[in-house]
Amino acid sequence: MSLPQRVSVHGGHSGQFCHHAKDSLDAIVNAYIDAGFTWAGITEHMPPLDDAWRYPDEAESQFSAATLQARFRAYFSECRRLRDKYQDRIELFCGFETETYPGSSAVVRDLLAATQPDYLVGSVHHVGGIGIDYNREHYAKAVQQAGGLVPLYCAYFDAQYAMLVELEPAVVGHFDLIRIFDPDYLNTLRHPEVWRRIERNLDFVVQKQLILDFNVRGFDKTTEQYPSRPVLDAALARGAYIVPGDDSHGVASVARNYDRGVAVLAALGHDCRWRRPRLYRW
Ligand SMILES: [Zn+2]
Ligand SMILES: [Zn+2]
Repeated sequence: MSLPQRVSVHGGHSGQFCHHAKDSLDAIVNAYIDAGFTWAGITEHMPPLDDAWRYPDEAESQFSAATLQARFRAYFSECRRLRDKYQDRIELFCGFETETYPGSSAVVRDLLAATQPDYLVGSVHHVGGIGIDYNREHYAKAVQQAGGLVPLYCAYFDAQYAMLVELEPAVVGHFDLIRIFDPDYLNTLRHPEVWRRIERNLDFVVQKQLILDFNVRGFDKTTEQYPSRPVLDAALARGAYIVPGDDSHGVASVARNYDRGVAVLAALGHDCRWRRPRLYRW
């Protein structure tokens, strides 16, 4: 029996093109090659719509939205250069990861036309204008603004659903990221108002044959991968496509937690034959 191929559907954030990542993209691609990956989707974050939507660390470092937008164009040139340079050793895809906030869909559409990526990772990192995965303080602010954890989760999954319908991204990034700083997430996810939305979103994912990012960076931030076990069970029961993503943000996080994550899937009876993302035809 041959070992399952190693792949990543989401990752390759680099210090060269992302303020909260490390290392050059070339070094990261080499790390994928060294770790024996067959293919890897390089999916850098999209730039902010304007200065107000910068990540806090970008704002502190006084990077303007215009600078970040220019760097994003440079990212695509470099990604494609590396794809060609290493084509005999690894298959690379050049894509990007979305943001989801008011006005972001129009920006994504413009970026799609301008950069013609191989595919999108559709992600939500903001609820009510507040970044939910940046740190505990921002998360607490988002909970307070939403009026509690349940309304926050509901708003997150509603924003995700609207994004999925609007963009139909080939890959859905870290499906239940909203649980990141909630120690009681197993109960919050199970709340009927939340669970109803999770099922709705999963039904859409399956109907459109989108891939769920089996995001092993979750082990660094929480006790398990995204999506968490209850959501994963519901996704598998529906026949959803599940593919690992290391969400690497530097050489050190290439393949980190990978085997641990794949073991979770294998124990659940997954055949570990990974789908490739559906690529745009430009
Ligand atoms: Zn990132
Ligand atoms: Zn993300």
